[in-house]
Parts: sequence; C-alpha cells; structure tokens
Amino acid sequence: MREDFLHFLWRTRRFDLSNLTTTDGQTLEILDFGDYNALDAGADFQNVKIKIGDIIWCGTVEMHVKSSDWWQHGHQKNAAYNNVILHVVYEEDEPIEQNTEGGHLPCLVLKNRIPEGIFQKYWSILHNEHWIPCQHHFYTVSEITKDMWLERLLVERLERKTEAIAVAFERNKGDWEETFWQFIARYFGSKVNSDPMEMMAQRVPHLVLAKHKNQLFQIEALLFGQAGLLADNFVDEYPQKLQKEYQFLQKKHSLSAPLSKTTWKFSRMRPQSFPTIRLAQLAALIHRSSHLFSKVIDNMSIIDLKKLFEIETSDYWHTHFVFDTPSVKSSKSVHKLGSETIDLLLINVVAPFLFFYGTSRKDDIMKERALILLDNLKAEKNVVMDGWKSLGLDTKSAARSQALIQLKTTYCETKNCVNCAVGVAILKNMT
Ligand code: SF4
Repeated sequence: MREDFLHFLWRTRRFDLSNLTTTDGQTLEILDFGDYNALDAGADFQNVKIKIGDIIWCGTVEMHVKSSDWWQHGHQKNAAYNNVILHVVYEEDEPIEQNTEGGHLPCLVLKNRIPEGIFQKYWSILHNEHWIPCQHHFYTVSEITKDMWLERLLVERLERKTEAIAVAFERNKGDWEETFWQFIARYFGSKVNSDPMEMMAQRVPHLVLAKHKNQLFQIEALLFGQAGLLADNFVDEYPQKLQKEYQFLQKKHSLSAPLSKTTWKFSRMRPQSFPTIRLAQLAALIHRSSHLFSKVIDNMSIIDLKKLFEIETSDYWHTHFVFDTPSVKSSKSVHKLGSETIDLLLINVVAPFLFFYGTSRKDDIMKERALILLDNLKAEKNVVMDGWKSLGLDTKSAARSQALIQLKTTYCETKNCVNCAVGVAILKNMT
C-alpha cells in the first residue's frame, strides 16, 4: 500500500462510502472532500467538511498507510497539522487519540472499504517490469485523455526547466542578457562540459563581449582565455596571437582569474564536440549578435530563429580540433552548428526562456510563443521516444517529445500512476 493510492481513493471518492464510522464508533459523513494539497507543506487535503455525530467540522485531512505514521512523520510537533479534523488510514495499528493541540483526533480506516478490482489493478500496475508499468492497459485510455494530459505535461516540463533559470536570473540581479548568455554557453558544453562552460561564461560578462562583438578574434581571445585554454607554449601563430590579445583584454576589463585548463574534458568525445570547437562556435554566435536575448524575444519567426544560430567558426577551426594539431579539412563542416543541434538548442534553452520571460512578465503571448515554437520543431531522437513509438504514440513534434519525456521520467519511472491522468483513467475503468 502506498499513501498516494489512498489520496487517489479520496480524490476520486472510490471507496465504500456507506455507513461510515470513526474508529471510536461515531457516525461520519463527508460533506466536502476538499482540495488536494499535492505540493505545499501541511495536511493532504484542505477545506474538508465532515459531520461527526451531530457536529459539523471544517478543516484538513491527513492520510497515512498506518496510523502510527502520525508519530513517525513528527506531526505531533508540527503546527501545520493543528487543523486536522480527520485522520484517514489504511489500517490503524495504534490509536492516535490526540491532535497537535491535544484535541480529539477522529480516525477513518479504509482497509475494508477499497473495491477489490481497483486494488488488484493498482497492484498489478505497480508490480511488473514493463517499459512503463501500465503498458498492458495504456491502449484502453482514450486519445483525448492522453492528449489533454500531454498538453498539461508540456507546461509542467517547461515550468520545471524554468526553475534553474529563475535561480540564475536572481543571481544575475535580473539581467536577462547575462542569464541567457550563461545558459547558451552551458548548452554549448553539452553534458560533459556544461559546468565549465557556464563557469567560463560567468567570467566573461556579456557587456564586455558586446564591446568587442565586431571582432571575432577578440571574442575568441576572451572566451578561450577565460576558459584557461590559452595557458600554453603554442607553436602556431594563431593561438600565440590570441594569447597576447587575451592578456591585454583581461587587464583592460579587470576580468577575474581564468578557469584551470584541467577543468575541461576532451577524452572519450567526438572531436566535433571538443570544448575548443564549442568555444569557437560560441564566439561566432556572439560575433553575429551580442544581444541574443533581445533578438530572441523580438517576435522572430522560427526560420529566423534558426538562422540566428546558423554560425560558422573562424578559419583556424576548419582545420583544427585543438590548438597546434592540424586535422584534415572536414567535409562535414564540423565548424558549423548542425540543424539538429540548433533544434535542440531551441528546445532546451530558447523555449524555456520564452516561457520564463512570459511567466515573470505575466505575458501569456510570450508563453504561447514558447509552446508554438515547440510545436513546430521536430522531436528529439532518443530511446524514450523509441519506447513511446512502440506503444503507438505520435512523437513527431518537440512539444510531444518534451511532454512524453516528462511523463516517463517524472511519473512512469517513479510509478506515480495515481497522479497521472492515464493511470487515473485506467483505475477508474475498474470501478
Ligand atoms: S505514470 Fe501514467 S503512463 Fe506512466 S505507467 Fe503510470 S499510468 Fe502509465
């Protein structure tokens, strides 16, 4: 038994409601099941109204698998539980007679009130090794239920992504360009070098970059220098010149100390993803537009947004993956940002920023733009999408794929089925 299943039963009123009594033998009537409190601290249901004997009570309901969980969870010492008017449990292993303030705490036991079919279904979903726990029942849920749930999950995913943006935005004292620059840089680091990229970006304020935006060479000097990748005895003339330029610019702008070269990872990576190539691409992007965020929110079409990120590195990087080691000129144009990478950047950075901007400015049109952008981008290709495809789901747009990733990682993998619209529909079909 899990507590969230008890919440589900209460939320959907799917337990035997006839002749209810508290464990001390008083008649009980539920007049209002109240509101589910899924996120905030305090009792599980607020604004509940019940009648015990002849007296009507208004307050909160707290639920536990065992009544003794009241002690285990320390509710007796927590004022947030002062207003509990009913303790609903699966089984009463120990009478809890007093609430936080020493008053009587009535208890309702659900153990013999749960319909057999619903419990067995819940049990079979919870205990299997399928790719998603409800795999054998998924097809029984209507398309409209799934579509509406996926729309909600897309928003949920964007909200979750904006949490990290909100933290950085506050750290940057409300500077949109600075925050966007740091997130773009982080994304260019991909998984392996995302932290060093962000640390590097924090060492090169976007206002400094803006002053040099017309000189790609100077931008490269700033990025490679603050990344700590110019601290070597170079053979090639190009890095030697970058080194000199960096020393001058570092003094001129009183920049903080660079990162250590050892912060960066090169091993077990494709050369196209080396941080040197990523930094060169990032420099080319700043060279194209230093005030990226202003451009992004400026109602650009999706085609123009993509064009903004179609960048090409300086010539040196057409024949090098690292300093001083020439490589064969690539026919695959590795010095350019590929269309798939651009799409991923729009999905993972631009859309969440538009959404966060819309949320913080109470601008629904901007939030809608984030959703439209995702609707018009192709879905990511990964094993999660392969799994959903095998269940017959449409995974064409990024809006879909983002929602499906949210469903798999936040609900299916934690067996959070009673809080999933698909799971609720499956369990409801059993009663
Ligand atoms: S969370 Fe929803 S979709 Fe995932 S297994 Fe449970 S019921 Fe199915």
